[in-house]
Amino acid sequence: MSDYLVVGTDKKDYFRAYAAVTTGIAEEARRRHGTSPTASAALGRALTAGVLMSANLKGDDLLTIRIIGDGPIGVLVVTSDSAGNVRGYAQNPKADLPSRDGKLDVGRLVGENGELYVTKNMGLKDPYTGSVPIVSGEIGEDIAYYYAKSEQTPSAVALGVLVDTDTTVRAAGGYLVQAFPGAGADELAALEERALSLPSISSLINEGAAPEDILKMLLGEQDFVELDRRPVGFLCRCSREKIEQVLIGMGEKEIREIIQSRKRAEIRCHFCNETYYFEKHEMEKLLEEAKS
Ligand SMILES: [Zn+2]
Repeated sequence: MSDYLVVGTDKKDYFRAYAAVTTGIAEEARRRHGTSPTASAALGRALTAGVLMSANLKGDDLLTIRIIGDGPIGVLVVTSDSAGNVRGYAQNPKADLPSRDGKLDVGRLVGENGELYVTKNMGLKDPYTGSVPIVSGEIGEDIAYYYAKSEQTPSAVALGVLVDTDTTVRAAGGYLVQAFPGAGADELAALEERALSLPSISSLINEGAAPEDILKMLLGEQDFVELDRRPVGFLCRCSREKIEQVLIGMGEKEIREIIQSRKRAEIRCHFCNETYYFEKHEMEKLLEEAKS
């Protein structure tokens, strides 16, 4: 099954709900970045958050999540767009920790102290950034706290990645349910009860649950109304041409220094770990372009 996102609501329109299966995205990130098992879970959860949180974006809108905790993984960065493309990286992808209570210890790998930033680039407006302190480093909880504090929206969030014994990603996905102002205490309590009664999101997906199945479990089989469904995937928009423009933008002096100091330049894209090589004669061509 390919990764996809489903957007839904309930018949009374108390909630807007998003669920996605992101096994392919999380596995692609693991393969590209060579993440440790716990880092695969952390990055996979952050990428899933990016998919869910960008579901309402339009056109060229972009969403960036930065999680800067005090744990060994360092900074986690994810960007996503309105077309369901997401990319991301961890500063220290090889960092790992022993599991705790039989679970990958994402909380301590990310760190229980720090800050979560969400930046929205919407059209021509200035980018908007909201931030909250990290609650647990488990990411799902931190995103829920972000919505409660920064956007005053009560939300239920679950993000999960199941890493197989061979260290590949076996299942990944998540959901985000947001309450509209019309939802009262009773509706919120009912949602919370349903959410708490569910098995972990990664085990649900591992057992074959699709996004729409998860939303039915959360909103009630009879009440669920599907609004939208779309494919999502790991995609980085970097290219050799874009890297060339960055190099040219560095200016003559910097380019000369690179040409003098090494045989060929190696430029790596943080987001997808793709390496671009520029031989001396290619750098000399870019130097000419920088001059003009
Ligand atoms: Zn890239």
